[in-house]
Amino acid sequence: MSNEQNFLHELVGSMSQGAAGNPTVAMIEAAFAHHGLHWRYVNMEVTPADLGAAVRGAKAMGFRGFNCSLPHKVTVIQHLDGLGESARVMGAVNCVVRRDGQFIGENTDGKGFLKSLAAVTDPRGKSVVLFGAGGAARAIAVEFGLAGAKDITVVNRSEQRGRELVELLQAKLNLPSQLVVWSGDYSVPASTDVVINATSVGLYDATARLAVNEASLRPGMVVADVIGNPPRTRWIREAEARGCQALDGLGMLVNQGIVGVQYWTGIEPDARVMRQALERALGL
Ligand code: NDP
Repeated sequence: MSNEQNFLHELVGSMSQGAAGNPTVAMIEAAFAHHGLHWRYVNMEVTPADLGAAVRGAKAMGFRGFNCSLPHKVTVIQHLDGLGESARVMGAVNCVVRRDGQFIGENTDGKGFLKSLAAVTDPRGKSVVLFGAGGAARAIAVEFGLAGAKDITVVNRSEQRGRELVELLQAKLNLPSQLVVWSGDYSVPASTDVVINATSVGLYDATARLAVNEASLRPGMVVADVIGNPPRTRWIREAEARGCQALDGLGMLVNQGIVGVQYWTGIEPDARVMRQALERALGL
């Protein structure tokens, strides 16, 4: 994998705008170092106008792949050679992998979530309530559909965004799904197996409350959050207090990094090392 003779590094990039201080760098580079890989993960500030040139440049320079974040997740697709299954269904890419000289777009957001979930339950046959209908919710919902979930209820403030997601799940994945337009406190049906906050509520604010009737959370439900900073959101603390199995957003972020490293290098990186590096980078 590495070229020890002339000490060339294998390169993986991260293309985004306003990427300063991206904590993912520390996490991915910790994995490379821990496993003795002569690889580097490089943060690159790329404007929308330069995206095509940047992708061609990365290919010409032999990059093994790159992550891309906002505002490039959808527009990058036109510059790639192909798409993995979930990226094709959701129409968004956050991870590009070089395979046989081709740049293939994948989406690891939802895969990271399901990998985190796998530690506590199997998504197959599960009844899911999902708060939010943005990029994170879409990625998670598509992976649940591909993994054989029983049904999904999307709860979202904006009816249009919510409807678009439900229609995508029905049309492309044949997944029984319904929309609840969110107003007031939502009560989680007792038959729910997995409840996920995929909104931005709680980001940088440990006191922010999700509009949910907390008494409807029952012991045994798996309750998850996409918010990784802070990891102990009010939603996560409430779920634990009610005897639910709680999964924080930091786990999703680490597992998303793990899937990326697996794609690029072919190794199974050490999750503990990556989580520690991420926590240090976030100052937790
Ligand atoms: P988007 O902007 O695409 O979507 C935001 C969603 O949150 C929308 O559904 C929006 O509803 C909803 N929302 C925002 N504020 C409120 C509120 N006060 N009450 C109810 N709903 C609200 O963002 P993303 O989906 O890209 O990201 C969402 C969060 O997920 C971010 O905080 C991000 O940090 C996190 N994330 C975490 C990852 C991880 O690995 N842990 C990976 C990716 C994202 P509406 O449509 O009505 O506006």
